[in-house]
Amino acid sequence: MTEREDTFETYRDRVENPLLSLFVRFGEERREWFVVGLIAGLFERLLSLAPPFVLGVAIDAVFTQNEPYDLPLVPDGWIPTTRSGQLWFSFGLIFGSFTLTGLLGAVRMLAADYFSHHLMYVIRTATYDKMQRLDIGFFDDQDKGELMSILNNDISNFERFFDDALTRAVRIVTVLAGITLILVYLNWQLAVVALLAVPLLALLTLWFMRRIEPIYDNIRASVGGMNTRLENNLGGIHLVKTMTTEAYESDRVDDVSYRYFRTNWNRIKISTIYHPGSSLVTSTSFAVTFIVGGYWVVIGPPPLLSGTLTVGSLVTFLFMTQRFTAPLKQTATIIDQYENARASGKRVMGLMNMPTTIEDDPNATDLERPVGRVEYDDVSFRYEADGEQILEGIDFEAEPGETVALVGPTGAGKSTVLRLLTRMYDVESGAVRVDGHDVRDLTLSSLRESIGYVSQENYLFGGTVEENVAYGSFDADREAIVAAAKAAQAHGFITDLQEGYDTQVGEEGVKLSGGQRQRIALARVILSNPEILIFDEATSDVDTETEMLIQRSLDELTEDRTTFIIAHRLSTVKHADTILVLEDGEIVERGGHEELLAEDGLYANLWKVQAGEINELPEAFVERLARTN
Ligand code: ATP
Repeated sequence: MTEREDTFETYRDRVENPLLSLFVRFGEERREWFVVGLIAGLFERLLSLAPPFVLGVAIDAVFTQNEPYDLPLVPDGWIPTTRSGQLWFSFGLIFGSFTLTGLLGAVRMLAADYFSHHLMYVIRTATYDKMQRLDIGFFDDQDKGELMSILNNDISNFERFFDDALTRAVRIVTVLAGITLILVYLNWQLAVVALLAVPLLALLTLWFMRRIEPIYDNIRASVGGMNTRLENNLGGIHLVKTMTTEAYESDRVDDVSYRYFRTNWNRIKISTIYHPGSSLVTSTSFAVTFIVGGYWVVIGPPPLLSGTLTVGSLVTFLFMTQRFTAPLKQTATIIDQYENARASGKRVMGLMNMPTTIEDDPNATDLERPVGRVEYDDVSFRYEADGEQILEGIDFEAEPGETVALVGPTGAGKSTVLRLLTRMYDVESGAVRVDGHDVRDLTLSSLRESIGYVSQENYLFGGTVEENVAYGSFDADREAIVAAAKAAQAHGFITDLQEGYDTQVGEEGVKLSGGQRQRIALARVILSNPEILIFDEATSDVDTETEMLIQRSLDELTEDRTTFIIAHRLSTVKHADTILVLEDGEIVERGGHEELLAEDGLYANLWKVQAGEINELPEAFVERLARTN
């Protein structure tokens, strides 16, 4: 059972370093691609610094002839001695650097893209896998739109970060380090002047990061909220139309959409201070370097500075200052992408960290070929630890092959009783046993495989009728599928469909009526051939004639299987071996149909209601019904 505080939000907010955690957990598999991308990016950037450096040397040695032709890392023997030779040599170096930079860029892009897309694919699959293993209680509290937003938008944000932002960040650091080294090598005093912009930009960036972080958390949350609203509204479009609440719903969508707009607008406002701000700092740095350097070359060292500065060095300085302003300006985009991905990472990791309470015990055993003895031993239950008591002292046994019916007013707890058998939830106290084993000591898969469940809500997956009947029994052949459909009284309407068993149904296929869907769900369970059956209002959507026909086929199916039936239509449960009458989470009457009629209690009164003998009902019963409804 989940404690109230143990919500998804709590786990999300507890996540620290989400991107690093995701990288370590899911990036391992393709780490080499990441490393290749990183190294290629590193060399790409370093090499891109060669042309301005070579140009500066060429200006001083070839054009103004003030300095000897001297390049670090290049052996003297390689350098031509003639001016024209040196000119061509410089050209060759510059052209070669450009070509190699391009090639390295291609390698970097390919490797980084591959890594980030693969990472996205692995994270998405793992997140979905984790999500569907979470307790059903999690889905009771969570909107589908929010979950879709995690699987779609949040995971896509990682691609942008790992592909673009991360490698870009590494390249910026490389460029800055490379430029600093070159500038200090050429003239350390002018380097100090040119690099004064760096601490200023660092301060500005720090301020920006502090301001933008909470905004991105809000943006991610508002995307989730918007998805939830849209999903709810589109899902309930029939209701919206019949209740003519279009204007009301438009207002609600307007609200969430406006919230998204506002949070984004806050982000834009902060960014518009940061982007021009960083441009101003870097442009000023360029201008100051130009003035100080120009003065130095033309007149001599400015006050406080000493030594010489060549024209070539100044040209290299100016190119380099330009070079570091561009990547520094990109810092804002990187931070944007980082904060966006971090907020998404918290949501994904929060989900990953959610504990599952309903899971296999380490010592769980498989339920093998159960005979189907089911026992409820003084079971109590509530959905939330601090919530309302839903079941109290539920105590009964179903012998193998018996049919037990659960009846009672709406909200009495009938469905809840059977959800404990399939371990959708665990009991608060007492125990539910199958063949003498507490369900908590059995593996979930073996327990659930031996129980067939048909409810009121019958979901059809997009696919053919055949695929829907065979869902879960994937190896079944056509013959078995048809036999199951016949037993569920579904064969007739299926063969009337244009393409019979191959007709596409579900969201994008042929629309089936509620009764037809129920019969497909029944056929699905018949085909899976479980030892225990649960029918929770399983035939409520079919007309009484079809129900009678289904009932006949089911008689054969249920003959030697333990069967639980929940039905409001009491004629359906009349022949059950035991009828349990529930009221307010307790069993108030039990016995066979005739026995219960003779008792003249709740069951007898419910029977009278359905037989139309309304005038014969005691006043106290009518008042009680009105209260519980
Ligand atoms: P009906 O005949 O209308 O299907 P029921 O007898 O099967 O009703 P349950 O569905 O078991 O009744 O519900 C019993 C009580 O538990 C109700 O008060 C209901 O509001 C509450 N309940 C049901 N499902 C949940 C849930 N997922 N979370 C919290 N409370 C729930």
